[in-house]
Amino acid sequence: MSDAFGKSVMTMAMAGALSSSCIFCQIARASTTTTLLHQDDKVVAFEDINPSALRHYLVIPVEHIPTVKQLRRRPEDFALVSHMVDVGRALLRRDAPNAEQYRFGFHQPPFNSVDHLHLHCFALPYIPKWKAMKYLSLGPFVGFVEADKLLERIKPSSSL
Ligand SMILES: [Zn+2]
Ligand SMILES: [Zn+2]
Repeated sequence: MSDAFGKSVMTMAMAGALSSSCIFCQIARASTTTTLLHQDDKVVAFEDINPSALRHYLVIPVEHIPTVKQLRRRPEDFALVSHMVDVGRALLRRDAPNAEQYRFGFHQPPFNSVDHLHLHCFALPYIPKWKAMKYLSLGPFVGFVEADKLLERIKPSSSL
């Protein structure tokens, strides 16, 4: 057995172990009691377990992508994030048509709570108001990043 083969088997086994212990991977496979608000082959959506706003949903990729740091300026990543926002916006429009405002974004590490990419989707106001503190942008690469800003960052140059 070559070293390279041994290594890749090991990497696959580790990735499998990581994703099977990831709560969001379990939700994405519909193997929890979490109610899915949306499900397709790319993403699932569900209510945040500890809602911070009038409505607070999470949209996650079915594929285990740890954080925004793994996203690159490439068509598949741009399409995935665009789709996540579209799904979140459609759900909020349906469930909170009279909200003050909608907001979409991601926590950037080290401020992310779960290491499986998740889009926070809010129908505002924040409830209680101080919860807004958890979603402050502290500069382009620190704290919370608006989905629009992230999309600008990963937009493939060919599609400009
Ligand atoms: Zn995961
Ligand atoms: Zn988060």
